[in-house]
Amino acid sequence: MTKIKKDIRALSLSELKEEFILMGEKNFRGQQVYEWLWKKSAHSFEAMSNLSKELREKLNDNFVINAVIVDEKQISDDKTIKNSLKLFDGNIVEGVLIPTETRMTACVSVQVGCSLTCRFCATGKLERLRNLNADEIYDEVVLIKEQADKYYQKPLTNIVFMGMGEPLLNYNNVIDAIEKITGEDGLNMASDRITVSTAGIAKMIRKLGDDEVKFNLALSLHAANDEKRNRIMPINESNSLQELGEALAYYYSKTKNKVTFEYIVFKDINDTIKDAEELFQFSKYVPSKINLIEYNSTGDGEFQNTSGNKLHRFKDYLEEKGLTATIRRSRGRDIDAACGQLANKKHPEAKMQ
Ligand code: SAH
Repeated sequence: MTKIKKDIRALSLSELKEEFILMGEKNFRGQQVYEWLWKKSAHSFEAMSNLSKELREKLNDNFVINAVIVDEKQISDDKTIKNSLKLFDGNIVEGVLIPTETRMTACVSVQVGCSLTCRFCATGKLERLRNLNADEIYDEVVLIKEQADKYYQKPLTNIVFMGMGEPLLNYNNVIDAIEKITGEDGLNMASDRITVSTAGIAKMIRKLGDDEVKFNLALSLHAANDEKRNRIMPINESNSLQELGEALAYYYSKTKNKVTFEYIVFKDINDTIKDAEELFQFSKYVPSKINLIEYNSTGDGEFQNTSGNKLHRFKDYLEEKGLTATIRRSRGRDIDAACGQLANKKHPEAKMQ
């Protein structure tokens, strides 16, 4: 019978040290291995060169490192790199490197598929198969960071949790991964360079407040009217705008972090001055800034981008009201790497609903 090996990266530092004592090894070896696993992102025990061969073999017999690997990558005309990343169980998620003049941003996934069925999003059409573990999210960042270095000779500057899945429905693993990404024994990146984007789970937004998180929060708003939002984002039926607004106000009272509202401006759906006025009213819940996003086609023909004219009128209205609004152009569209286009197209085994 094959022995079931433990996932070594699911252990905390103190649990790891405990395991070393149980194996009759010195406590400090646990610390050394922890550094290999996180700070040096080792993906094999063989790589841990300051351990004896014997110990490395012992570790190999008892533990696994469930490393994520790049299965396939595509490079867009605008230099965006989209990766199909293979998890230890064969599932695939996508992770994207977005280079601009001033930034190198990693866009990471948190679930295989998504449970939320937002009508305009390609990932929303996939079934949610499972959550990613903290070490898998961490690996995505490490792999994309390595690409920034290898292809563009630049350090990774930002991380956005805007890939596949809903971060607040994989709360503990996302928080754990961010702790490792920002920790001194991990990648030592600054929290204010990290943004978690949510479709809006009021209870978990409050929890972010209780946990006094230091990273940025973005809400995918897209409509500031319950009836409209219910139609395009079914999650709104159980998390109304009032509940979300109050949760955000609570979050702000605890963290003093401004919130970003993401708003795709769709043709004939949410692009009138009345819609902008509703957005202005909603923004009163919490200090915020607004990202107006262009719709990226997912190929179903149901949604379209609004006209340039209407987009600018919408933005001007918000600015006249004293809000900060920027228009965000998506990158990587030619390879379906832009927001809402992540759907494992090359991997038909990822089931459609
Ligand atoms: N589940 C999280 C994170 C993933 S989506 C969330 O909903 O926020 C990241 C951003 O891309 C969200 O603002 C989302 O609404 C947006 N998005 C989804 N589909 C899109 C599309 N087809 N075009 C442009 N943006 C899209």
